[in-house]
Amino acid sequence: MSYVDEIIDLVVKQNPNEPEFHQAVKEVLNSLRVVIDANEEQFRRDALLERIVNPERQIKFRVPWVDDKGQVHVNTGYRVQFNSAIGPYKGGIRLHPSVNLGIIKFLGFEQIFKNSLTGLPIGGGKGGSDFDPKGKSDREVMAFCQSFMTELCKYIGADTDVPAGDIGTGAREIGYMYGQYKRIKNVYEGVLTGKGLSYGGSLARKQATGYGLLYITNEMLTTLGDTLQGKTVSVSGAGNVAIYAIEKAQQLGAKVVTASDSNGWIYDPEGIDLAALKEIKEVKRARLTEYTSYRPNAEYHAGKGVWSVKVDIALPCATQNELNLEDAMNLVENGVQVVAEGANMPSTAEAIEYLQKHNVRFLPGKAANAGGVATSALEMSQNSERLSWSFEEVDSKLQGIMKNIFHNIDAASKKYGFEGNYVVGANIAGFEKVVDAMTAQGIV
Ligand code: NDP
Repeated sequence: MSYVDEIIDLVVKQNPNEPEFHQAVKEVLNSLRVVIDANEEQFRRDALLERIVNPERQIKFRVPWVDDKGQVHVNTGYRVQFNSAIGPYKGGIRLHPSVNLGIIKFLGFEQIFKNSLTGLPIGGGKGGSDFDPKGKSDREVMAFCQSFMTELCKYIGADTDVPAGDIGTGAREIGYMYGQYKRIKNVYEGVLTGKGLSYGGSLARKQATGYGLLYITNEMLTTLGDTLQGKTVSVSGAGNVAIYAIEKAQQLGAKVVTASDSNGWIYDPEGIDLAALKEIKEVKRARLTEYTSYRPNAEYHAGKGVWSVKVDIALPCATQNELNLEDAMNLVENGVQVVAEGANMPSTAEAIEYLQKHNVRFLPGKAANAGGVATSALEMSQNSERLSWSFEEVDSKLQGIMKNIFHNIDAASKKYGFEGNYVVGANIAGFEKVVDAMTAQGIV
């Protein structure tokens, strides 16, 4: 049996009931076969893959908090410190009822290679809780965040582990967590990113993941002699990534016709009214059902359906496994040319295979959504310098990073004979640097 197959079996056996983690490991290792097979003897001797698929540390803790009626609730908190070979652990905190250890491990594992691809010195980690901020008062969210940080603060630090936002963790939650960290540790340091601008946040961080997704998509199209101008685009989600992906797509001349949340989706044939969407989601924290009261010509549909719309470019920006084989078939049938992932692992393995087989240009999340963590690393640099850079400076660095990522994954795919397969390209480009650093640092 090959080393890759042995390790995949081991991961499934040692981590039962963690299907998302299995999926992420399989995707990465399968696409690395060419590199691993070429170095099998050395990698086996060093147990390199066993070390890469095992987090350096995983922390699970109780998070008790009191609601507005005096009732005590207990959630579970997680932080998986996956790999620190190339820098302090870095990765977001997800607050969503679906969170469990397997989901945090899949996200942390992906984060290792994504962070490596940015070219910046950041290792891989991820955290979260099954707490749902939806429908909670600000005081309840604060109570949860303070309790969560009271435990988490023992394990993180500006040079150790620097968490950030993710699903359910936006500026409000980061603010409450930062306040509690500072209160307990009595240090003012860049221990979290995604902070507010008045206390060490970076301009352009809020926009970075969505903008970065469009920068890399644009770079790919330009390299292929095409452009975003005039393209029709579908976006899923209506959160941080989706909103700023829509904004940049519109700025670059595309028409975005869909958005979604976990209850339903909107189709606006004239193009999404971004001001209305921001008001509904960022100001009112309301549901997408409200959109048609702003735009009577738009349609609201309950349930899932974004991928049934005919578009040139599809940008999944909501959550994992939201684009399955049937969706991929619909997209191909409707002539889609590009699928670029704003979310983490939004496409199933079968969907990716189908899209690639049908010559759809597919940009995987670990490359396409790396603009968020890259800009988080820029926020860390600004915090260390105790300086704040202008929006233009951060945005121009972000553009440079996304262009580099595209050319690195493109080059890696060509070097190993998989031209145009950016899944293979991204995994190889991310993996090589991590392996190099792990090898240099000995058996740790
Ligand atoms: P937000 O919480 O801001 O938005 C998430 C959006 O996706 C919401 O519209 C939400 O709808 C929808 N959604 C969440 N879960 C589901 C579900 N199970 N089914 C259908 N819709 C769902 O999160 P972000 O925009 O920050 O993150 C979106 C994705 O991008 C995630 O995969 C995240 O890991 C990834 N990502 C985020 C980065 C960042 O900088 N924020 C960086 C890199 C990746 P509802 O409000 O109804 O729940």
